[in-house]
Amino acid sequence: MVYNFSAGPGVLPEPVLREVQAEFHSYKQGVSIVEMSHRSETFATIVEQLEMRLRRLMHIPDDYAVLFLQGGATLQFSMVPMNLRATGRFAYLDSGIWSKKAIADAKHFGNVIVVGSSASSNYGTIPEWPEHIQDVDYLHVTLNNTIEGTRYTKLPDTGVPLVADVSSNILAEAIDVKRYGLLYAGAQKNIGPAGLTLVIIRRDLIVDRDLPSYLAYSKHVDTLLNTPSTFSLYVAERVLAWVEGEGGVEAMERRNVEKSGLLYDALDASPLFHAVVSGKQRSLTNIPFTTGDAETDRAFQRFAEARGLIELGGHRSVGGLRASLYNAMPLEGVTRLIDVMHEFEQEGQDVSYKNV
Ligand SMILES: *Cc1c(COP(=O)(O)O)cnc(C)c1O
Repeated sequence: MVYNFSAGPGVLPEPVLREVQAEFHSYKQGVSIVEMSHRSETFATIVEQLEMRLRRLMHIPDDYAVLFLQGGATLQFSMVPMNLRATGRFAYLDSGIWSKKAIADAKHFGNVIVVGSSASSNYGTIPEWPEHIQDVDYLHVTLNNTIEGTRYTKLPDTGVPLVADVSSNILAEAIDVKRYGLLYAGAQKNIGPAGLTLVIIRRDLIVDRDLPSYLAYSKHVDTLLNTPSTFSLYVAERVLAWVEGEGGVEAMERRNVEKSGLLYDALDASPLFHAVVSGKQRSLTNIPFTTGDAETDRAFQRFAEARGLIELGGHRSVGGLRASLYNAMPLEGVTRLIDVMHEFEQEGQDVSYKNV
């Protein structure tokens, strides 16, 4: 049994993978899903179902459009400022490496005002919400910082539209959609294969701004502008059916609180490992941890890999260790990780970590 702790592309539900495998060669019309027109009735039904499921799961109101795009969260770093640009002033919270990248891209399209930053503490914490902001087109926040393992839980009342990157916490915890102007997420963390990006946008924010067609939100509303990532849409629809069958986002959040709670408790009690983030800011989905020694961290990674626990390395920019506990990670994966941590602690008392 292999447990995959990858931060993305991440683990997908086992029953969905089996279903996809069984249907891959011939889907309904006797052809594979990947050789079917995206304009066919069969495929249109899949996209409709996907949108309906997402709307039900996230309680998305009718005055929001759901767009299925490509280019990842990274393309949204540009599409957001391009499309929401009115005054050309944009506010950003700088809470991690992904928000830093979002800020760098937004600077191509206007004046970025960083209203809070934890860069000086290496993003070990998250900046506070600004007290009062005005005269900007939106305030951008990365709700869950995938690399650093921090998250926002409370939302402020702002007079400006809130834009959130929810790539690593969408469907993992409840998100009150109506508090936001726009939400976006790459699908590959918690929804499906790479190649699909979700944008949920309040319709009144969709304004024609004379942009090239693909880059304009207005050209994607209630239609497929061009050929989407059909396979990713198909798998995503199956994953959302699984989430619904398991009890929806509320059930996922309960499980993720339980899974992450077990791991944080084990880390807090460990004589060797510790969590990088403390307190209320701890992410439910991405948990960076370390022994404090890079070589011992690497030794543990190899030790865990040999026992079927893979992808526990921290992001290449920060090192250390990281366990991502997305929806499809079962509780058993977490208890197994904790057992293997204990085993490593025991063995470390007898031999040098470097040799295990
Ligand atoms: C993974 C990630 C990204 C980058 O997503 P791509 O789809 O690879 O562009 C951006 N933001 C956050 C919060 C992420 O976790």
